[in-house]
This record gives sequence, C-alpha cells and structure tokens, in this order.
Amino acid sequence: MTGQRDDGGTTAGDQEITAHRLLIGGKPVDALSGRTFTTVNPYTGRVWATAADGGPEDVDAAVAAARAAFDGKWGALTGFQRAALMRRLGDLVADDAERLARLEVNDSGKLYREMVGQMKAMGGWYHYYAGLADKIEGRSIPTPNPDYLVYTTREPVGVVAAITPWNSPLLLLTWKLAPALAAGCTMVVKPSEHSPISTVVFASLLADAGFPAGVLNVVTSERGEVGAALAGHSGVDAVAFTGSTSTGRAVAAAAAGNLHRATLELGGKSAQIVFPDADLRAAANGVLSGVFAATGQTCMAGSRLIVHEDVHDELVRLVSERASAMRLGDPHDPATEMGPVANKPQYDKILGYLRSAVDEGADVACGGGADGELGGYFVRPTVLTGVDPDATVSREEVFGPVLSVHAFSDEAEAVRLANDTPFGLAGGVWTRDVHRAHRVAGRVRAGNVWINDYRVVAPSVPFGGFADSGIGRENGVAAMDEYLENRAVWVQLSGRTRDPFVMG
Ligand code: NAD
Repeated sequence: MTGQRDDGGTTAGDQEITAHRLLIGGKPVDALSGRTFTTVNPYTGRVWATAADGGPEDVDAAVAAARAAFDGKWGALTGFQRAALMRRLGDLVADDAERLARLEVNDSGKLYREMVGQMKAMGGWYHYYAGLADKIEGRSIPTPNPDYLVYTTREPVGVVAAITPWNSPLLLLTWKLAPALAAGCTMVVKPSEHSPISTVVFASLLADAGFPAGVLNVVTSERGEVGAALAGHSGVDAVAFTGSTSTGRAVAAAAAGNLHRATLELGGKSAQIVFPDADLRAAANGVLSGVFAATGQTCMAGSRLIVHEDVHDELVRLVSERASAMRLGDPHDPATEMGPVANKPQYDKILGYLRSAVDEGADVACGGGADGELGGYFVRPTVLTGVDPDATVSREEVFGPVLSVHAFSDEAEAVRLANDTPFGLAGGVWTRDVHRAHRVAGRVRAGNVWINDYRVVAPSVPFGGFADSGIGRENGVAAMDEYLENRAVWVQLSGRTRDPFVMG
C-alpha cells in the first residue's frame, strides 16, 4: 500500500521510510533506470528515506526540461512577473520552515534549532533577489564616433547546473537559485548523495508559488559521476558548485571543457585571531560558535585559533571548559548544542585527523575522540594545543568539531600564521583596538572577515573565497553578474553608406 506523506514523499505500507522521486519538467518521475538509493539519519544510524538514483540519461531529460522552460513560459516573463513569483516562494519557504528544517535534520544531523532559524531566514533570500529581478538595467554608452547610439541589455545566461554539498543543502541551493531566478535563468540541481531529500521536497514549492514547470529540476543520485555529467553537460550555460576543493577542481575542468562559466564555493581553513586586549569571554564564545556550531561542518569553520601568548592559556581554558560542557545528543531536541557528524565517511575522516594530530605532536586540551555512549556518529568537541602549523590537522580541512590552537607574539606573526594556508574563505579578528581591528582585517587574505564576531551571513552581503576557497561570489547585488550576460547594441544614426572595407 502506498500513501502520501506530509513531507512530500510516499510511504510504502506501514514503514516509516519515505520514498522520493526526481523532479523533471514539473513532474515527479522515477529514474529511467528504475534504481533507487537509501539515505541514513546520522543520529539514529537508520535509513529514513529513499531517493531515485538518477543517471546521465535523467540529467539529459532535466537539462532539456530546463531549456524548454527557458525558451518557453519562464523566458517570456518580465522581471516584474518573476519578482512576484519569487516573493510568493519566499513566503512559502518561511511558512514551511518547520517541515523543511525537519528534513534537513533527518538527512544531515544538524540541530533543529539552527535549521528552523535558517529556513525562516531563507525566505529572505527570495525576497531580497525579487527586489533585484525588476531592476536589471543596461546602460547607454558614448562612443568616439557621434554616428552611433550604443546601449547594453542584460540577458539571463540560460540553463544553470547547480551541484550542492550535504551541509545546509537548501540554503546553499538558495544562494544560487535566488539570483539565478531573478536574472531569468532556469536550473537543474543535483544535491549530495548524503542529503538528497530536502531539495526534492523544496522544489515542489515552486509549483505552489505559481512558477511554470521546468524552472527548477532535481536529479538525485548516489553516484558522483552524475554530478560530473551535469557539470560537463553541453546543454547547460553555467555551473554553480559548492563542495570540496578537490571536487571543485574537477567541476571547473568539466565546465572549462565546454567554455562554460563556473562559480565555485569551496573549502576553508579559517583563522580566528585573538589579541590580548580582546573581550576574552566574547572571543571564547565566537571561537566556539565558529568551530563547534553545526558540528564544525561548515565551510567557514574557524578551525584555527591564533591567540596571543599572554592570553593563550586563559582562552584555551575558557573554550575547553565550555566545549566539555556542551550538550551532545538528539538534534531534534531544543536543548541539544551539538549533533552527530553527518555521515559515516566524514566521521571516519575526522577520527583519522584526530589520530594524526596526536601522532604529529599535538596536545589534547579537551575532547579528542568519538563519543561512543550516544550511538550515532558523535565526535566530542576537541581543542588541540601545541599544534605545529605544518601538521596535517592545521593544513587540511577537517570539516568537524576540531580546533587547532597556535600562539603568536606580535601582530605580524599573527597575520603570517593566519595567511599560511592554501585556503582563503573566512577569518575573525578579536580586539578592542579599532585601528588594529581594521588594519588586520585588511591583511587577512580571505573573502569574509568578521571583527569581534563570527559566522554571520545575509542575502545582501557577498560571500566567497580567495585562493583555493573558490571563484566568484554568492549573495549580494554582485551575484547577479554570475547569471547575466551583457549585450551591446549599436544603432547607426547618420543613415550614410560607409566604406565596407574599413572597420567603423
Ligand atoms: P563534495 O565535493 O564531496 O561533494 C559536493 C557535491 O559534488 C555532491 O553533490 C557530490 O555528489 C558532487 N560530486 C562528487 N563528485 C563530483 C564530480 N566529479 N563532478 C561533479 N560533482 C561531483 O563535498 P561535500 O563533502 O558534499 O561537502 C563538504 C565540502 O563542501 C567541504 O569541503 C566544505 O568546505 C565545502 N563547502 C563550501 C561552502 C562554501 O560556500 N564555500 C559551503 C558549504 C560547504
């Protein structure tokens, strides 16, 4: 027996497992191969849903549906009409925040209390970009020759291929989708194999908001090669990727093979610098939020603490005491402060980094391993001191609740240590000295720097990385450029016939 569930999936018999299909051209469909795969709740360790296991042939169908919508009803709408639909979508997202948050928690183990806030705020991205959809303007441009009137128009780039990771799947999709819709593009998204469900359910909201079919298509798949098929598809016009730096390189190469543009939001190894005049309690709170919130599974995790030698011991004590007292447990429980790691491979990877850190000489101030009592993939919040800046744990992205602490003696050394990384996503500066705060923020080679705070984002503020942390920016007015082409139109005003063999 099959029945409809309130989360948009179907249940088979009286099992709790929900089944979800692809969304292509506005219709839920099975993968052409008929294959499905399961997704595991990292808190219970049990399968909680199944998704269609799409293949390259499903990617072809999804790209064709996105193209048909671009060439059809969606492409014919004005920016004002797109804005109206986007405002409605933003309202639906906010109204549906609790259901969407539950799906995110089931798939990723992130805290419900964080995800429900994230889902409510996410509606704001659609409202913000709705405000830009009806303000896409060209320019009138003077030329040296008075015989010409030249103006530019801005055109949607076309069909966008979006590939998203397992941490915050819907917010990171929204950072691509909201500006792409405002620009007039259509999209095919492939969510992570570890967290595929929320994207399919979210995509059905576009029909509820009144969007034409095919504007957003979803291909779930268990196989990385399907992401590669989408990134390298000749039928798309641009690629928007969030994920690891190594996969980002493959995506960039696939897009370049077609001469398609690509935005890449990649990994990080971000530093929080704490000067001796900082409010140490506030800094400890910021360090904690930077590396232990979301179980450290955020691209902007402040995973390196660079602290002045005079306050090193005090700050390590404050952070370690609070970390040791953190409440680990059921991510749905509002009292829980840290949930499990999102999946088994990531759990194994973090434990491997902890072993290598100790082997390479680090001291464990707190945590240091798994929390076996809770079941699920729990790793205790860990603070490592005496870490060699060249140690594996301080150079590679751990993507877990692990903080490496380094001491410095002067400002130049702090900046050097902060920039001693191939990444450049984010950074924090903690000081009460306004001169030093801005001076140091201006020297940290990263796309996002917070002064006396950490891990704050908004639809209006550009986000992205320097160096190995990516190419391009999401959020803010500038993100519209990633989804728009420029066209220059030349109008001959004199009516004269000119020499055909000389350039005008
Ligand atoms: P990942 O790179 O393993 O996977 C990301 C996505 O790419 C998944 O959907 C995956 O199926 C797909 N994929 C895998 N192989 C592919 C290929 N060859 N071609 C195209 N797609 C392919 O990353 P993850 O483990 O899901 O996510 C964690 C990573 O994401 C971390 O490195 C983190 O820092 C990064 N991240 C960055 C940001 C940011 O905004 N900078 C935000 C969140 C996460």
